[in-house]
Amino acid sequence: MGSLVQVPFHGRAARGWVLGATDEIPRRMLPVRKLVSPTRWFDERGLAVCRWVSERYVAPLAAVLERATPPRVAGEEDPARLAEPRDVATAPPVPGVLSDYRDGAGMLAAVADPRQAGAWVLRPAPEHEGEAVVEAVSRCVDTGRRALVIVPEAAPVPGTARAIVDAFGDRAAVVLGGSKRARFRTWLDVQAGRYDVVVGTRPTVFAPVPGLGLIVVARESHPALREDRAPYYHARDVALARGDVESVVVVLSAMAPSSEAAALSLPTVAPRRRRWVPVEIVAPGPEGRAPRLVRALREASRAFLFSPLSGYGIAAVCRSCGSPAACMACGGVLRSSEGSVRCVVCGSLGRCRECGASDFGLRRGGRERVEEWAARIAGVPVRRATDADAPRLPVPGEVVVGGPDDVRDFGAGGLDLVAILDADLAERRPGLTARERAVTTWIEAISWARPGGRAIVQSSHANDPAIQSLVLGDPARFHRDERRRRAHAGFPVGSAVFRVVGGSELAESLEALDPITLLVSSAEGQTVCLLALDPDDVPAFGRAARELAGRDVVSRVEAEPHL
Ligand SMILES: [Zn+2]
Ligand SMILES: [Zn+2]
Repeated sequence: MGSLVQVPFHGRAARGWVLGATDEIPRRMLPVRKLVSPTRWFDERGLAVCRWVSERYVAPLAAVLERATPPRVAGEEDPARLAEPRDVATAPPVPGVLSDYRDGAGMLAAVADPRQAGAWVLRPAPEHEGEAVVEAVSRCVDTGRRALVIVPEAAPVPGTARAIVDAFGDRAAVVLGGSKRARFRTWLDVQAGRYDVVVGTRPTVFAPVPGLGLIVVARESHPALREDRAPYYHARDVALARGDVESVVVVLSAMAPSSEAAALSLPTVAPRRRRWVPVEIVAPGPEGRAPRLVRALREASRAFLFSPLSGYGIAAVCRSCGSPAACMACGGVLRSSEGSVRCVVCGSLGRCRECGASDFGLRRGGRERVEEWAARIAGVPVRRATDADAPRLPVPGEVVVGGPDDVRDFGAGGLDLVAILDADLAERRPGLTARERAVTTWIEAISWARPGGRAIVQSSHANDPAIQSLVLGDPARFHRDERRRRAHAGFPVGSAVFRVVGGSELAESLEALDPITLLVSSAEGQTVCLLALDPDDVPAFGRAARELAGRDVVSRVEAEPHL
């Protein structure tokens, strides 16, 4: 099982995976011509996880196996190069924080007991984010079993991954990018039992770790844990499925857990008393310069200003003809950024739709503008995070202006001031999950404030559950509101969502499956259906989709699209 073989197929050599023995011999059989590689790519458990992915996300098993295994680099498979397997070493001593957490001792006991499985939500204090994961992993490793830690991003190396490497040294495999050769080498060494803990990004959830005892998904609410290409999968859900298959404990860790994790009603491990900076809600002043923020910025020597918009401002009106500004090519919104005005939709240089002129009156706002006014107020240098340099925390004596992409797992921040500008814009962002993404990012940014520091949030809606969650440092209230909102929109939290593209009979065929929601539209002569299903109905949908694909009624199925 798990071998890669070559078979002749329509006069060409095709590759195939050996899935195991069977008594159901099909009428038409192809002989195996040769073994392509000495590597066994998966075992029974790995195959079971891939079958789960194939069924849950309605993807061909072959495509899942392809994604779950690294590209092969032939020269690396020489048996002489294989690492010597070694026993799991005793974990290094780590300072314990979890036993002081509510339900923390229970979770550690479950991790240490090979007979226990099941999932937990861990909501660490900001200063414990990496440490708590290290402690859980140590507890697992101490029982002679190995652990797997999934992180959302590769670069810069997340604080949680750094904490693992600091604690376990060369006993930790790090799978964060790297060359094809290096990745395959590491994968082989992991399979050979060379490492006690494996930490890596999304595809690492499939890593062939022998004697697995624990899976941790760090920052489980992060959007990068969802695979954006077919077969679409979410690393959190695969981790939970793998936990079931291998009977091991799964820990979903996040300062702001996702609605999905919250809806699982899992035991939650959290500090008995969370250190959380007092969050001040202020009404937005002119261009966001609320007087209280201005005063705080003047005094701060290390601060982060979060602004959701890039650029310097939006073109409001044409200075030549006075008409409202719009892109000449497509009618889109024109944004001023880095000194030039461009369409945010088509990227054309900004020219007036009515008269072709390129001089506009701007409505100022965005990170470039924030950088400009903050530099006039702050007593220390102000730097705007740009695509050119890697995201990082402000150093002492620095103010950084950044956006959603600059909020990463950097560990405790130690900042005097964290300000969230334009929080009300999240309400108007398109997409069903945009608000949740915003709340998560805000909580992660606010967690950088040092004890005694300040957090200032600009919002006109202080009672909004999203804003209240920031004040409490706990998204529970937001989750309750979100559950109601998502159910109202027809896409309840925990439902399985698919975007299906196909022919004219598509809507009628899908209606027969009795979905929670079916939205039908058309694009480029094709029918596009957005479908919400009870997860228990997904296998039936999968069978129907395959049958409909055979009749050309379905041309594409995308699981869990970003809504
Ligand atoms: Zn004009
Ligand atoms: Zn345009």
